[in-house]
Amino acid sequence: MEKLSDDFNKRFLDLDENYKVIKNNIAEAAIKFGRKPEDIILLAATKTVPIEIINHGINLGIEHIGENKVQELTEKYDSYDLSKCELQFIGHLQTNKVKYLIGKVAMIQSVDSMKLAREISRLSLSHNVKTDILIEVNIGKEPNKSGIIPEKLNDLLYETATLPAINISGLMAIPPADANKRDTFNYFTNMYKYFIDISSKKLDNVNMQFLSMGMSADYADAISAGSNMVRIGSALFGPRIYNKKI
Ligand SMILES: *Cc1c(COP(=O)(O)O)cnc(C)c1O
Repeated sequence: MEKLSDDFNKRFLDLDENYKVIKNNIAEAAIKFGRKPEDIILLAATKTVPIEIINHGINLGIEHIGENKVQELTEKYDSYDLSKCELQFIGHLQTNKVKYLIGKVAMIQSVDSMKLAREISRLSLSHNVKTDILIEVNIGKEPNKSGIIPEKLNDLLYETATLPAINISGLMAIPPADANKRDTFNYFTNMYKYFIDISSKKLDNVNMQFLSMGMSADYADAISAGSNMVRIGSALFGPRIYNKKI
C-alpha cells in the first residue's frame, strides 16, 4: 500500500510540474503564431492513466480529457470529476460501440466515415442531444490508418453535414509517427489549409472551431502551424504503463 501511495505522490508532483511547463510552451507557441494562449485548448489524453491522477489534473485546471478506448472510458466514467471538465472520445471508433458514448462525451474527434457519422446522428437523435464531431483526416495517407484521405474530405463533409443530430466542429489529424520534424510540420500546415478552406465555405451545420493536432512530441510545432487543440498524454502523465489495472 505504501509503495502505491509513494508512486502516486510522485506522479502528482510530476504532473504539477509537467502541466506548468506545457502551459508555458503552449503560450509561447501561440504567441508566435499570433494567437492568445487561452485560445489553445489543452486536451489531456488519458489512456492508461489512473483516475486519481486524471482527477488531480482536472484540479490543476485541465478542462478537456480524451479517452481513446470505449471500454476504458466506460470503466472510468463514474469516477471522472466532470463538474469542472468535459470528456471527449479521440480514438478509433467502431459503429457498434457508438451507443456507449452518446450522452457521455462532449465531442467525438475521430469520425472518418459516413456510416459512423450516421450512427452518431441516429443515436444522438434518440437521446435528444446533438453530438459535436471532428472529421479525422489521414493526412499522411497511410494504409490501415484511421481517417479520411484528403481527396475525399470534402465529399464526407458535405454528406455528414446533412445529418440532423451532429455538429461538425472541426478537423483532427495524427501525422505519420515516423515522419521527421519538417515533414510533420508540412502535414500540420496542410491540415491548416483544409481547415481555413472549409471555414470559408460557410456550410450549414459546419462550424470550424477546432483544429485538433499535436501530441507530446510535436505540439509546439502543431500550434505554430495553426492547431488550436493539442492532445497530450505522455508529456503530462509520464510514460504509459500498460496492462496494469486502472
Ligand atoms: C494517446 C493519444 C494522444 C497522446 O499521445 P502522446 O504522444 O502520449 O502525447 C493523442 N491523440 C490520440 C488520438 C491518442 O490516442
